[in-house]
Amino acid sequence: MPDTNPRILLARRPRGAPVPDDFRLEEAPLPEPAEGEVLVRHRFLSLDPYQRGRMDDAKSYAKPVPIGGVMECQAVGQVAASRHAEFREGDWVLGGFGWQGFSARPGKALIRLDPAEAPPSTALGVLGMPGLTAWVGLRDIGEPKEGETVVVSAASGAVGQVAGQLARIAGARAVGIAGGAAKCDFILRELAFDAAVDHRGDLDAQLDAACPGGIDVYWENVGGAVQAAVFPRLNDFGRMVMCGMIAQYNTAPGAAAAGAPPGPNLGPVVRKRLRIQGFIVGDTGWRRYREFRAEMLGHIGAGRLRWKEDVVRGLAGAPAAFIGLLEGRNFGKLVVALD
Ligand code: NDP
Repeated sequence: MPDTNPRILLARRPRGAPVPDDFRLEEAPLPEPAEGEVLVRHRFLSLDPYQRGRMDDAKSYAKPVPIGGVMECQAVGQVAASRHAEFREGDWVLGGFGWQGFSARPGKALIRLDPAEAPPSTALGVLGMPGLTAWVGLRDIGEPKEGETVVVSAASGAVGQVAGQLARIAGARAVGIAGGAAKCDFILRELAFDAAVDHRGDLDAQLDAACPGGIDVYWENVGGAVQAAVFPRLNDFGRMVMCGMIAQYNTAPGAAAAGAPPGPNLGPVVRKRLRIQGFIVGDTGWRRYREFRAEMLGHIGAGRLRWKEDVVRGLAGAPAAFIGLLEGRNFGKLVVALD
């Protein structure tokens, strides 16, 4: 067991896109578990777009990370030492551990994982928060129906890959929007989406070809130019699942994304009786986690649901990987593997 704990702190608040100097790597003393706590050795850290929001001191649904605080994330790890009756050394657990090598946490803050059921890292992706987000948003807001057309942006990513596949399982046509030929090829061939649109090409022409009958459900992960192109193609009684707008995370609140046209004209919301609803996975998601997990394991066991991870090795690589996530350089659910 090492006697120090490597961790990545927020060194300062970014201006626009984060840069490496916004983060600081330091070695802290190894935490000591108190009675009722366990020491967790982290194996996989989850890098997610919401962590960009935590770097700003802006009012949101969650508190910002303080300057000098450990960057937040969910992580999967193994119990390295236990002072809790229900956890043994080697047990796999999930928790909000942060960008660091180890943490000491009370047993009640941990979710136990069974590695025989699925690889532990899936608790950060297809069977974790991003998968749960896709499941909740489609059930509660998107409600895809047989024969409808569902368009998913950032379709090869952690949330998008699950949202598109669940839409297909519900009998809808899934059209994915992704950046570049490799990602488009992946969603068509590996995930069996019905059509792919490369947002680096001519969005209007590709959307017309992929959605000849218009769009019934739009899963919004991106915002900016992609949203502006999708919006006029929504059918009457369409639903927009407002999950995230990553293209706008590096811009000041209320400002348009760099290079994006002015925002869409929302006038047709009334004429078309559109339903547009934002949601945060934590609103209701974790209460329904067992139902979600059972359903997803059923789809995985039956070969209906696949996933892709993008694994970066070593804590020191986390800032660059996170900066890349906000630029579309990840391919699949981004996790950091710690040795
Ligand atoms: P992804 O794994 O999809 O990774 C982000 C992807 O976004 C990139 O790979 C890239 O894909 C795309 N992207 C990045 N920058 C841009 C840009 N400027 N323009 C267009 N596309 C861009 O991330 P997640 O699946 O984890 O998250 C997807 C979205 O869901 C985010 O907006 C996130 O904030 C949101 N979210 C919301 C939750 C909620 O509770 N509401 C919970 C979880 C996530 P490509 O190269 O294909 O463009």
